[in-house]
Amino acid sequence: MVENLDPFQIARKQLSDACKLNGYDNEIYNTLSTPERFVEIKITMKMDDGTLKTFKGFRCQYNSARGPMKGGIRWHPDESASLVKALSAWMTWKTACVDIPLGGAKGGIICNPKEMSSRELETLARKYIREIADIIGPNIDVPAPDVYTNAQIMAWMMDEYEKIVRKHAPSVITGKPIPIGGSAGRTIATAQGGMYCIREAAKDLGLNLNAATVAIQGYGNAGSWAAKVLQDNYKCKIIAVSDSLGGIYNENGINSHETTLHKEKTGTVVGLKDTKQISNAELLELDCDILIPAALENVITKENVEKINCKILAELANGPTTPKADEKLFKNGILVIPDFLCNAGGVTVSYFEMTQGFYLHAWTEDEVLGALDRFMTKAYRSTIEQAQKFNTHNRMGAYTIAIERVVTAMRLRGWI
Ligand code: NAD
Repeated sequence: MVENLDPFQIARKQLSDACKLNGYDNEIYNTLSTPERFVEIKITMKMDDGTLKTFKGFRCQYNSARGPMKGGIRWHPDESASLVKALSAWMTWKTACVDIPLGGAKGGIICNPKEMSSRELETLARKYIREIADIIGPNIDVPAPDVYTNAQIMAWMMDEYEKIVRKHAPSVITGKPIPIGGSAGRTIATAQGGMYCIREAAKDLGLNLNAATVAIQGYGNAGSWAAKVLQDNYKCKIIAVSDSLGGIYNENGINSHETTLHKEKTGTVVGLKDTKQISNAELLELDCDILIPAALENVITKENVEKINCKILAELANGPTTPKADEKLFKNGILVIPDFLCNAGGVTVSYFEMTQGFYLHAWTEDEVLGALDRFMTKAYRSTIEQAQKFNTHNRMGAYTIAIERVVTAMRLRGWI
């Protein structure tokens, strides 16, 4: 039978399994499986060549029981309503799993920013905010960067919001540049948070990180910083990395700094000296200690799961593993650090950025990373304990903790 790869259906299937483990009835599942609000907007703008283009955008506000909703904005040609809904659900479980006082949301625009000029990107950013300004705010819903959006785009978005409300509101957006209210450590936060989990997982397995081999799919914000931290701080050997144009492999190790410079110069990791070219599919099947998907959804499925040959699967990407593959990974004894735990470093430091914005104060990078380590280590330990208690895989461990926290908040508010 063909596996269902629709992201929101996958998110609902995971939720349904977790509800059963927690002993929740259908009524609880029904409310948890539906977003509070989903808006679809249209943005029409003049392009540099004088033509008019119309883009479709989304914002999904999934659950606000635990606090203001939080979630990134993705600009990608393959963005879809289903993906935005799934990601907003995962944001809800993510903020609950790391126990920060926020809910979950997500946004996106179907577009290809790689083909747009800086002026066009700025216009798109400002028009998107004009469309959703009434439903976001520091105490309502706080966007952030995600796939193919960045600190500059967040700066334009914050500025547009502040023009509309006619006052400063730095906590309306996170992932901003540091001179206008961004947080130290935000750029590296997603990768660094995942690395704290990997450090704990290695302790659990008795794996010496100094000799560990690593393969990373995706060399963007999450993947490239993961390579740098694992190489520089933990002395791991990076044997393969990839991007949308393909992968590179060297069993003796690939230097992350040289790879980053090569990608900056040529636009891809492919072609770095002393490496052999491999495909993205081959990278996932390499024999290595730590495998890190850091690019797209649905890359580990029932088709390739038996060929996954690592000790730790650290999911920096959102939704890289399908439910069918999850069961097999558990059976095969692979320690999975599930996405909404592994990549929660980004939203955790975003929460620190919101806090600093409310107080008009700036923490040092050491303060940020020290606090991040505490949140991530605690969340990792609770996930592992919970999975052992239910004799299930770590994703269900993380899910059951997260939904219990959301349900408790909804009950205390009298919503259910
Ligand atoms: P990014 O845009 O900076 O990088 C994405 C990388 O994936 C690029 O190197 C791109 O070339 C590569 N890629 C695209 N298509 C590919 C393909 N078919 N095969 C292999 N590689 C491909 O994005 P990012 O911010 O690093 O996000 C990557 C993943 O991490 C996403 O799933 C995102 O949701 C998740 N994530 C990111 C953050 C963050 O703070 N950046 C936080 C949480 C989760």
